[in-house]
Amino acid sequence: MVPAAEAEAKILSLLTPLEAPGDTEMVALAAAAGRILAQPVTGGLDMPHWDNSAMDGYAVRHQDVAGASAACPVALAITETIPAGKPPTQPVAPGQAARILTGSMMPEGADTVVMQEVTQRRDNQVLILEAPPPGQFVRHRGSFYRAGQPLIAAGTALGGPELAVLAAAQCPQVPVFRRLRVAIVSTGDELVNPEDPLAPGQIVDSNQYALAALVQAAGAEPVRMGIVPDQPDALAAAIQAARTRADVILSSGGVSVGDFDYVDRILTDLGATLHIRSVAVRPGKPLTVATLPTAAGQPFPVLYFGLPGNPVSALVSFWRFVEPALRKRSGRAEGWQPQFVEAVTQQSLKGGGPREIYLWGRLSPQAENPSRYDFALAGGSHSSGNLVNLAGANALAVVPVGTDMLPQGSVVRVMVVRS
Ligand code: AMP
Ligand code: MG
Repeated sequence: MVPAAEAEAKILSLLTPLEAPGDTEMVALAAAAGRILAQPVTGGLDMPHWDNSAMDGYAVRHQDVAGASAACPVALAITETIPAGKPPTQPVAPGQAARILTGSMMPEGADTVVMQEVTQRRDNQVLILEAPPPGQFVRHRGSFYRAGQPLIAAGTALGGPELAVLAAAQCPQVPVFRRLRVAIVSTGDELVNPEDPLAPGQIVDSNQYALAALVQAAGAEPVRMGIVPDQPDALAAAIQAARTRADVILSSGGVSVGDFDYVDRILTDLGATLHIRSVAVRPGKPLTVATLPTAAGQPFPVLYFGLPGNPVSALVSFWRFVEPALRKRSGRAEGWQPQFVEAVTQQSLKGGGPREIYLWGRLSPQAENPSRYDFALAGGSHSSGNLVNLAGANALAVVPVGTDMLPQGSVVRVMVVRS
């Protein structure tokens, strides 16, 4: 049994991120949310694009208003109103000011903006009631970003802020890594699809749905391979088919020591290297991690995860070990590891034995101190076969190896599985 942290490090070491240019595609900016930038983007425009006003007010020459005060206002003649979106039509000469709005281009000659609140309008004149510091409320061209400098680095996950930057830089098409393809194989003679009648002893293949949803949420494309019976030939054929279609294969079931658990043997027969066969976590002890040798046309070996069949074990294994692997392989430059936070447990948590124990429940900010978290254990059975109370869980509390019990009110390490 490999300790969890060691298994995580081993898995990440087996993976090479997708690479530019081979694994890249151009997508429209509107379709780029959630994708990973494959090449660094350099902008061709200074930001701001020109000197502009940060306030509604008056563009002035600082030396004209350096002595202004409420007791001794300075009167300036108004040349024009410059709305946002239109360039100024004339320079501001000594003794003049231009009416300016937020975002409008600064007129030539003016170097400072006096905000409206410290002025008084008199027809075609404005009285300045306060001396501004020189250059106040002017955003200078290129002061946020200079054209030609790196703008967004390769490996960045594109969210709202990054897309805003790319839009502002006028990049209508962006190079992103292709989506990873993740095959999902459900093994077991007892499995049926949700729409099928359920004969006595049969079990609905829920793992396929859970895993496909998690794969998709991770930004990858699920390739559903369906249910495969516990027959070595059928399983070998399914793995061979998955191997030609996917970067990563997830199977569930068949990795224990039961009479019909063939996964490890078939992988060995197919020439795979088995790196991990079980990890010291509960739920989820049986976990096979293997690499399948390079098939024609594929530059990197296919990574294989043989997840346990129990629905909870399969999901916990996905969150703890598969998701980080997908993040790295998909080309993200960083942030692969799961996110852990400390929380105060609302119930006592039972541990014990040689395995790290993952208990599911809800993490929420404390009402009186929102920078700290509470963890509330899900009600009902914490059996690895019970997926009912897993619905709604957003975090897993971790009871370390060698701890028999974490009392209510103590601080526990919690893995965030949904934001
Ligand atoms: P196994 O690891 O194949 O021994 O499966 C362990 C348990 O998980 C058994 O009770 C299986 O019926 C159940 N199981 C296996 N695969 C699935 C699946 N795809 N969906 C739901 N339960 C499953
Ligand atoms: Mg089975």
